[in-house]
Amino acid sequence: MKGAVMKGAVMKQLIQHWVTRQAEQRPDAAAIVWKNVRVTYRELEEHSNRLAAVLKRQGAVRGDRIAFCMAKSPEAITAMLGVLKADCMYVPVDVECPASRVEKILTACEPAGVLVDASGARLMGDVLRSFAGPRPFLGTLEEMPLKENVLATDFCGTDIAAESSAPHVCENDASDGAHILFTSGSTGTPKGVVVTHSSVITYINWTLRYFGIDETDRVSGHAPLHFDLSTQDIYGAFAAGAELHPVPPEYNLLPRKLAAFIQDHRLTQWFSVPSVLNYLCRFDAVPENGFPHLRRLMWCGEVLPTPTLIYLMQKLPSVQFTNLYGPTEATIASSFYTVPECPASETESIPIGTACDGEELLVLDEQRLPVGPGEIGDLYIAGAGLSPGYWRDPEKTASVFLPDPRSIEPRRIYRTGDLARMDEEGRVWFLGRADTQIKSRGYRIELGEIETALHAIDVLEESAVVAIETGGFENMAICCAWVPAGGADINAADVRTRLAESVPRYMLPRHWLQFDRLPKNANGKIDRPRLKADFREAFLSQKSGTAVPGAAT
Ligand code: AMP
Repeated sequence: MKGAVMKGAVMKQLIQHWVTRQAEQRPDAAAIVWKNVRVTYRELEEHSNRLAAVLKRQGAVRGDRIAFCMAKSPEAITAMLGVLKADCMYVPVDVECPASRVEKILTACEPAGVLVDASGARLMGDVLRSFAGPRPFLGTLEEMPLKENVLATDFCGTDIAAESSAPHVCENDASDGAHILFTSGSTGTPKGVVVTHSSVITYINWTLRYFGIDETDRVSGHAPLHFDLSTQDIYGAFAAGAELHPVPPEYNLLPRKLAAFIQDHRLTQWFSVPSVLNYLCRFDAVPENGFPHLRRLMWCGEVLPTPTLIYLMQKLPSVQFTNLYGPTEATIASSFYTVPECPASETESIPIGTACDGEELLVLDEQRLPVGPGEIGDLYIAGAGLSPGYWRDPEKTASVFLPDPRSIEPRRIYRTGDLARMDEEGRVWFLGRADTQIKSRGYRIELGEIETALHAIDVLEESAVVAIETGGFENMAICCAWVPAGGADINAADVRTRLAESVPRYMLPRHWLQFDRLPKNANGKIDRPRLKADFREAFLSQKSGTAVPGAAT
């Protein structure tokens, strides 16, 4: 990949430079198509340059963190680019996140500034009013200051419009962080994964080469902006000079609308978590030989059930289907497998394949030495995609980013927490988790984060969270077993309401069982296999989710 060219001079490559290059070469081409709005590369470049100028005027300097709490929109993507051009790192905050969790994220990343739109203004206002850390500046890209906000904004769209659209000379280099993505943490505090420019560049350049993405592509933007999958959509599109078509989040539960979106936007590429594809399949929303423009369909984040894959491959015979695997800590995806032909049976499993360029997948034993072909081991990743670690958390970083004992040159390997085996042909097969991290509707959830939040609820004496497989849209159903503190007059709905104050909606348990005391094993620890069995029984026999099973008390 050539360096981005600016006014004839070759400059170092940072991820925002993809937009700069397109704005120079194809200024009127559409960069983002959103509802009825078409944002050109020139507009995106100039608007983000103006925002960067405002951020610098507010005092933002290299390495500062700027959080943004904005709904998916062209403005939110402009905000990301503006932050990068100010040499800062952006920290996406989900507008649906409870205030107490947002506070934890802000406390951890100490942002110099916060950007909001109408949907994030109230939440951020609530958090910042009582925020104990240094007060960040607050801005919005909307034309006027936001009425919904309880705090005065330091700037708004009219201030941004008054700035120069001249490009910025960036101080950052490619080893600097571009963004921090906060993901579920088992101790109750979200972990901030630092993602560098260079790891995004290596991965995106591989996707361009492998998939042949170019300026004729119309690329889906399905993932929320706080998910790392969105990094591939956004920067993959911009690097190729393609059109990014963000998918309105409200379509997620409307499979026919989603299908119509793919059709009407003439998408050439779809990338999402499997749960969306399961949904399309369950409602038979994909037309026979439909989506005539679609060239490739990729999924990542979870196992795609083979019946769904068969359904899609039969409906869309000319589409290329690729399984991408990888954790946020190794930047979007680390391995890939393009399915050569429709599986013959619904019980066939699909490998996660072989490493993307610049990456390596290792299946190791407890001594971190390779296991033999076909043997089960822990899955580690090495290579260009590895994050420098968790933001200001050397302990957590050291616990999973480990030295490779076999390497003469010092190098780090990341322990994914996944179990895997490698076959004779070097393909890796995913075999589940070695811990209590789960995926539910594509969301990465540490059950420990939910338990920590439950333990802080004073009307509970004991509680435990387990997950059971549903085989349905959400994949794993989260289940909560709870014991009220002596005399507390509460029900499952009360506990749920209290829990919702600390964890996002997608972490709220679906099934609840009240116990007199939780079952324990011989070591006095909570008997989780027993709890799972109780939930399976209650769930499968369609009993009330809040019943107290006699046998379990
Ligand atoms: P995240 O950081 O949200 O991308 O989650 C990473 C985890 O999701 C991995 O460690 C796996 O457990 C799971 N995962 C990611 N991609 C796949 C895939 N293609 N197949 C199965 N599991 C996956």
